[in-house]
Amino acid sequence: MHISQSGFEDSLTDNVILAPFTTLGIGGPARFFAEAKSAEDLAEGVSWARARGIPLFVLGGGSNIVVSDDGFPGLVLRVSLRGVTTRVEDDIVFVTASAGEDWDSLVAFCVNNNWAGVECLSGIPGLVGATPVQNVGAYGQDVSESFVSLEALDLTDDNAVTIGAGECRFGYRTSRFKTADRERFIITRVTYRLIANGRPALRYPELRRYLTDQGTGNLDNLALKDVREAVLAIRKRKAMVIDAADPDSRSVGSFFVNPVVTVDEFDRIKTRALRISQDIPAFPVDRGMIKLSAAWLIEQSGIKRGQSFGGVGVSTRHSLAIINRGSGTAREVVALAEEMKSRVRDAFGVELIPEPVFVGFSA
Ligand SMILES: Cc1cc2nc3c(=O)[nH]c(=O)nc-3n(C[C@H](O)[C@H](O)[C@H](O)COP(=O)(O)OP(=O)(O)OC[C@H]3O[C@@H](n4cnc5c(N)ncnc54)[C@H](O)[C@@H]3O)c2cc1C
Repeated sequence: MHISQSGFEDSLTDNVILAPFTTLGIGGPARFFAEAKSAEDLAEGVSWARARGIPLFVLGGGSNIVVSDDGFPGLVLRVSLRGVTTRVEDDIVFVTASAGEDWDSLVAFCVNNNWAGVECLSGIPGLVGATPVQNVGAYGQDVSESFVSLEALDLTDDNAVTIGAGECRFGYRTSRFKTADRERFIITRVTYRLIANGRPALRYPELRRYLTDQGTGNLDNLALKDVREAVLAIRKRKAMVIDAADPDSRSVGSFFVNPVVTVDEFDRIKTRALRISQDIPAFPVDRGMIKLSAAWLIEQSGIKRGQSFGGVGVSTRHSLAIINRGSGTAREVVALAEEMKSRVRDAFGVELIPEPVFVGFSA
């Protein structure tokens, strides 16, 4: 009698090197690796790992992770659930995408249909399922603005749950899924709310400047696709889109989030900064807080773009991007990140917080 295997079991392999599954191109082997193409595959993978008492890591596009050279001592479950559905209510379009859909393809789909709300998030690598995790954002827009709800498997009781925007605790590059409830949920679908024929978001000064310099005329008349193209062009200049031919894009994007400080803290930091430079970039954000530029702090602390540190280095076009120069190791990535942190701490008294998730490092 033939016993048919599940999708999970079919794809299960062992000792899979993780480096090719990451944009940094670094990382040792997963003890076990499987692809989940359905919610059933996910549930099965979870029980399989649990029955063996091994840890589980949920992998998306691998664009925001640093995997240890020793790899991961458990099951890496790659989320490959596909499918997009849409529902139109007057001027509002609800787009529901499965977690394994490519994020930038979804953005292109929305922009091509003239649905506003995610156009500035063009060119961000990775999959849909990860977008709520760090409330993906760029060029003045973030996912929380269009996010309606997500569906997930709750690993505390193995129930399928729906979580609305108000329950996600979204913040600047963060949410409950990256903090208190990290590793609790496997996100299976996300619903976004777009505006049919809506105006593009043109809040970010660098984006407005770029469009003006391009001679695009009245910014009020721009189409969503013009803004998408501008964002992609700006990102490409900074190696912030994945391009196999561009070694500066072998990264996790920005390695640190921009520090957000109180006015008192800012005054103290400014006093120290004035010894080095007259103009410390600072941007007022919510509740009287001030956002600093992590890239500026790193450069002013003496680390320069293009500088090499063994097999890794700093991107020639963005001081916030740590790149794999070809033979880099996770140990070197961590050492360079520590060097950046300690220099910025010594120079300005600011503690930089890494943006990527570290996988397979002992706590
Ligand atoms: C060149 C470059 C530019 C970038 N630019 C930006 C940018 O402008 N703005 C920005 O915000 N980020 C940026 N990033 C970071 C990254 O692209 C995003 O964080 C992206 O959302 C990560 O998606 P991923 O699918 O690759 O997630 P992964 O790297 O695979 O995973 C990241 C984390 O999310 C978890 N996760 C993934 N999928 C799921 C799921 N389905 N359920 C539960 N947990 C899950 C993982 O377990 C892990 O903890 C950039 C990265 C690169 C390489």
